[in-house]
Amino acid sequence: MLPYYARFIARFPDVTTLAEASFDEVLTHWQGLGYYRRAKHVHEAAKRVHELHHDQFPPSIDALRALPGVGEYTAGAIASIAFDQAEPAVDGNVLRVVSRLYGITESIAEAKTKAAVTSRVKTWYGDAPPHELTQAIMELGALICVRKPSCEACPLNRHCFAYAHGKTDMIPVKPSRMKQPLEHYVTFVVTHNESIYLEQNPDDGLLANLYACPQVEGKNPHDAFETLKARIPFSVTLGETLGDVTHVFSHKRWKLIVVHVLAGESSDMFYPLEDLPALGKAHRTAIELWEKKLMQ
Ligand code: SF4
Repeated sequence: MLPYYARFIARFPDVTTLAEASFDEVLTHWQGLGYYRRAKHVHEAAKRVHELHHDQFPPSIDALRALPGVGEYTAGAIASIAFDQAEPAVDGNVLRVVSRLYGITESIAEAKTKAAVTSRVKTWYGDAPPHELTQAIMELGALICVRKPSCEACPLNRHCFAYAHGKTDMIPVKPSRMKQPLEHYVTFVVTHNESIYLEQNPDDGLLANLYACPQVEGKNPHDAFETLKARIPFSVTLGETLGDVTHVFSHKRWKLIVVHVLAGESSDMFYPLEDLPALGKAHRTAIELWEKKLMQ
């Protein structure tokens, strides 16, 4: 992840540079950083900061919350760490620490639990500099008060309910995990010589703006191929099945059967293998399956 981050920062070292870049370029440099929707938000937020705030992040929590992609946690983190304001930044780590400390047994997925934790943390910002306190709680949650906590090393152990009552494995209380639904697709790697046909996703929804191999819902490559033929504007021949790809999103899973298709002609929607635009990870893996066949 770090090399991708370094590459992104090298290209966009400040808000102005990022705000003035095209979204296609931002998306290309975002590859490897995951969650492509964040690329859109980061770009939109940079434009907003550039246009409305003269390239300076606004210090107020309300102005921060108004930026695209900035939720309660991010706004609190920026306000307290960058601007030293007494604004908590409550993420999963902080929920875990505070629930254990106070013996909170309501589910941490509930909004009212999060609100209760936020109010508790707010009372801690007495004389402590907010930027230090916020980072101290974050670090405690990330390094010591982890799933199997190192309570002996914890500076708060004398005050901790879960430690005193031997309940660190019961708190925090989490909602029962539901298995994400599984969707089946046949994904086509459509090639002409060594170029690949790609479609761009709409600018809203799953994997917004990214390029994608065409895919059809279902498990049968022959049926899916008939749908594909009716959908694309050039002649195609069904090739071999290249393999399977499973991809897990936060809310669902994809099982892809990857099939090679030969195109009878090329167009400007074919991209050379060495210069592909920004793709989702599942389809990049699908193309790699074809590349492997090519090398054999
Ligand atoms: S004593 Fe243990 S459970 Fe309590 S806050 Fe510290 S690390 Fe977490």
